[in-house]
Amino acid sequence: MDKRELQTYDVVGIGFGPSNLSLAIALEESPEPVSAAFFERQASLSWHRAMLVPTAKMQVSFLKDLVTFRNPVSRFSFVSYLHEVGRLPRFVNNSDFFPTRREFHDYLEWAESKLTRRVNYGSEVTGMRLLRSGPEDHVELEIRDPGGPRLVTARNVVISTGLVPRMPAGIERDGFTWHSSEFLHRFRAFDRRKLRRVAVVGAGQSAAEIVRFLYDALPEASISAIMPSYGYSIADNTPFANQVFDPAAVDDFYQGSSRSKDAIWHYHRNTNYSVVDDEVIRGLYQRAYDDEVSKCERLSFVNLARVVDVKRVDDDTRVTVHSLATETSCDLDVDVLVCATGYDPMEPADVLGELAEYVVHDGDGRYRVERDYRLVTPDLDCGIYLQGGIEHTHGLTSSLLSNIAVRSGEIASSILARRVPVPGNGVHV
Ligand SMILES: Cc1cc2nc3c(=O)[nH]c(=O)nc-3n(C[C@H](O)[C@H](O)[C@H](O)COP(=O)(O)OP(=O)(O)OC[C@H]3O[C@@H](n4cnc5c(N)ncnc54)[C@H](O)[C@@H]3O)c2cc1C
Repeated sequence: MDKRELQTYDVVGIGFGPSNLSLAIALEESPEPVSAAFFERQASLSWHRAMLVPTAKMQVSFLKDLVTFRNPVSRFSFVSYLHEVGRLPRFVNNSDFFPTRREFHDYLEWAESKLTRRVNYGSEVTGMRLLRSGPEDHVELEIRDPGGPRLVTARNVVISTGLVPRMPAGIERDGFTWHSSEFLHRFRAFDRRKLRRVAVVGAGQSAAEIVRFLYDALPEASISAIMPSYGYSIADNTPFANQVFDPAAVDDFYQGSSRSKDAIWHYHRNTNYSVVDDEVIRGLYQRAYDDEVSKCERLSFVNLARVVDVKRVDDDTRVTVHSLATETSCDLDVDVLVCATGYDPMEPADVLGELAEYVVHDGDGRYRVERDYRLVTPDLDCGIYLQGGIEHTHGLTSSLLSNIAVRSGEIASSILARRVPVPGNGVHV
């Protein structure tokens, strides 16, 4: 039988990546006490750990941390972290807005260590249902926990389950065909002596970082980079373009017409999607150029090409590559294929369960979402908020770190502002 907890939480967060970590801090810093619990299916805080390749850098400024844009004097800021670990002067000497992802991960762990009492690890939320027995609606969450199944009740739920890895159509993952989201775990478990030929498919930041990493880590191996474009394209990180990530841009996007939303996507996709940092592009080009000079070419770029089939043939992974340039296909035999083919947006339906039927949809069948990130559910008292999966309503920052401090603050404020007075018993949020 499922264990039911007696307490009803004001807020339950599903997933504990940077978004809900930022929310946990916003609740901690809230002017009124809020009872909260977070459930994370991984065994510990882990922010794209399998992509923490050495030297990979953040694509946002360190000032777009968990808190600073909401509360610049928070004790949870990246600067507070640097101060506490004793690296602030050396960080500043480096004159670089973009720390490595490893350092940022260390910062996230540092912030999380101050909040552990709110977080349950190894706990996967598998569904939700509505409890309508008392004076106000509650959500009951089913949780698969190391100690057995659990039921938890909440007045508000914040879904932040993250991006969903995407493979090329028709291609399945296995021990020799990996997705970038599992890259380092697979790489470390693999016998390196058997990694002589590796192909990496994709034209984005992760693809380029993996190609660079493999080239440097496997000096005897040949690396093939297969991409649908004519070469890697640069991520626009210039100041005017960066304004699409400003908190104010969320209002502009939210209030905009469908034509203005389309224009923002059309003109500014290249700030984030299928683009690569300048420094990584130049580093790869230089490696290929140096190889040519030394007549030892082990880095090849297969441009305008798509992977259409993968199969195991004896000890090889046979990758069928279709060239858009010649409209012909050829086979490439490798030891391992890495698909750095991106992610689909967060899918709330996976955890909403029967509550999905209470959500109002727009004309295109997508969820309607209030400006405060609350799903439009006119028949429910309880709140269901989204951190992610809201590109169609709130714009480009939906799946990024840029706006998490402000977004979490807005969600925390909304939950407090919608609190219901309880006679003789204070308020419920
Ligand atoms: C390699 C990589 C690098 C990136 N670098 C940047 C960057 O530099 N700057 C930037 O702005 N963005 C970056 N991004 C985008 C990325 O989406 C954000 O960095 C960030 O991860 C968003 O945080 P999140 O908490 O919303 O989602 P996530 O970090 O994905 O966290 C979601 C969490 O939910 C958990 N979960 C899922 N389902 C359940 C469930 N049913 N029950 C319990 N737990 C569940 C998952 O285990 C996960 O820990 C990067 C993405 C990748 C893949």
